[in-house]
Amino acid sequence: MHEYVRRRIARGCRLSPRLCRGDNVVLEGKDLLHDLPGTFTVVKCRTCGLMRTNPRPAPEAIGFYYPDDYGPYAGTRVRPEAPGRSSVIKRLLRPVVSALVDYKTTALPPIPAGNMLELGCASGSFMHRMAQQGWRVEGIEFSRKAAMAAAQLGYHVHAGPLETAPAPGQLFDLVVGWMVAEHLHDPVGGLKKLREWTRPGGWLVLSVPNAGALEFKIFKEKWYALQLPTHLYHYTPRTIRLVLQTSGWSPVKIHHQRVLSNLFPSAGYVLRDRGYERVGAKLIGFPENAGRWHQVLYPLAWFLSQLGQTGRMTVWARNGS
Ligand SMILES: [Zn+2]
Repeated sequence: MHEYVRRRIARGCRLSPRLCRGDNVVLEGKDLLHDLPGTFTVVKCRTCGLMRTNPRPAPEAIGFYYPDDYGPYAGTRVRPEAPGRSSVIKRLLRPVVSALVDYKTTALPPIPAGNMLELGCASGSFMHRMAQQGWRVEGIEFSRKAAMAAAQLGYHVHAGPLETAPAPGQLFDLVVGWMVAEHLHDPVGGLKKLREWTRPGGWLVLSVPNAGALEFKIFKEKWYALQLPTHLYHYTPRTIRLVLQTSGWSPVKIHHQRVLSNLFPSAGYVLRDRGYERVGAKLIGFPENAGRWHQVLYPLAWFLSQLGQTGRMTVWARNGS
């Protein structure tokens, strides 16, 4: 096997190692996002129920599965603002739409500006937005290229994995990680470290795919949010709470996001596989190219979120109860 796809089998329960009773195989899948080599298995721990990719690329080899065109790196670049040229109607409608439409993808608790750390800050657009609202921000980013783009905005960014990040000079009031906890090789170790860096009563806000949703059971290895092999853990509302508690955090709330960003690309993978290349590719590109379709589909997304069935969740936790 190619050196870059060297894989490692991780044995034992992550959450109750002393009670470990082994794993059940859930499914086998491939890298559908970039079509890179390797077959990977998702297993479910018989003791705690946490699902993980196993075997998986070793930490020093996983960069192979994050090519430079990896979506989040390009999608979070801050562009110079274009001169405003929107119609009167659009300008009048904007506050109405933003009052009605809340996707909950980056839902934050109502707290005053302070020190924020973004884990997996990619090219820095979220840090930039928070800095404009008065936050002192810094980031950690695994991709050197994306980290450099974020650092060029003037923010302190550690280029590398969480494991090698040095302790900060002062404690954080808020740590956020958007679609990043599923990428960690050791989420419990990582989240413990983040808790030590947070002031008592400080907040942790994470968004992760929800493998407890029906769409995972329907689409299985073609579920868009599975993203093998870069997603190493596949959380449900129950197991993300367990992971947080094991790491010393107190889970506060789970928001089911009001977006359908998994549903259409998952259907796209199924269609592509059956020979409908063009319509498949269109659906796979939906999350990035949807534009105002996210608004059009909002009522349906809202309805599914009430049932906990949108396949993505934003989780609030605190350091201390
Ligand atoms: Zn376990």
